[in-house]
Amino acid sequence: MRNTMHSPCLYIVIPCYNEEEVLPVTLPMFKKQLADMQADGLISEKSKILLVNDGSKDKTWDLIRTAAKENSNVDGISLSRNRGHQNALLAGLMEAKDKCDITISIDADGQDDISVMTDMVKSYLNGAEVVYGVRSSRKKDTFFKRFTAESFYKLLSAMGAEIVFNHADYRLVSSRVLKEFSSFKEVNLFLRGLIPLVGFNSSSVFYERHERLAGKSHYPFTKMLSLAIDGITSLSTKPLRLVFIIGLTVSILSFIGIIWAIIMVILGTTVAGWASTVCVVCFIGGIQMVCLGVIGEYVGKTYLEVKARPRFIISERTKDNSNNLG
Ligand code: UDP
Ligand code: MG
Repeated sequence: MRNTMHSPCLYIVIPCYNEEEVLPVTLPMFKKQLADMQADGLISEKSKILLVNDGSKDKTWDLIRTAAKENSNVDGISLSRNRGHQNALLAGLMEAKDKCDITISIDADGQDDISVMTDMVKSYLNGAEVVYGVRSSRKKDTFFKRFTAESFYKLLSAMGAEIVFNHADYRLVSSRVLKEFSSFKEVNLFLRGLIPLVGFNSSSVFYERHERLAGKSHYPFTKMLSLAIDGITSLSTKPLRLVFIIGLTVSILSFIGIIWAIIMVILGTTVAGWASTVCVVCFIGGIQMVCLGVIGEYVGKTYLEVKARPRFIISERTKDNSNNLG
């Protein structure tokens, strides 16, 4: 049990990209949840909702500004351009880490059960520094989404990445963990795989995932695939080892094949083997291309990391006093 003289200050961090349709529906739900937890004395009166506008092209930022003006419990920051979900979330968490005791990150679309925030905070009060929100079932997802998502988690753990099964980016993280996490400088961000690397006590809460309340998903199959590849290559070098093993196996087989061919020549039983030659050439060619691709993926990642460009740039804040010019 945590020894708390006062209730912790919570920041709910919500990345928003073109969410003008869903924000008017979900923001009141987030506000209600915040007010309920404050009324129960679970979190402090200073707790806030922090909305991160990820370079939206619609009215999202206007909505956030109005909400911040009307309600002192709502803050907003705006990124200078669209940087993607992971970077937007990071921007929000880094903004929040010095202003609060705990953060909860959640998507803007209301797919994740908002009410389990209460359980997350309770779990924090019981000593957990990180609390993962885990989907207990994916009944509401389409078969395709469920199949691809679950295969993704299985593949990731087979590749040696330490991730929590069926946990996305709905989680409570204490500012203590975030301060340690701020020294993880990588630009290839895959937060759900990195947070477990920071360590500290963690626990999980379970919830049912709903359908989006409005608007549409920003994760089509191609984006999911690229998140999966990024996830694997930024957390594990096992694919490189795999490439080495495949290369070794093929070399050994070829060596045996060469010896066999020589014996056949000596025995004088060679025949015109066009088909087998073509098969071998295609097979080896294909494997080489795949292996080069895997290595290229890592070389590319190294290139991006070496440049160490900023992961996000905040162009505006709803609170004037913390404006970039001081
Ligand atoms: N998002 C973002 N930047 C992007 C894409 C998405 O900040 O470039 C936010 C989006 O507003 C939402 C969250 O990331 O709050 C998750 O996106 P979405 O609901 O579209 O993904 P899905 O739930 O379908 O995987
Ligand atoms: Mg969603």
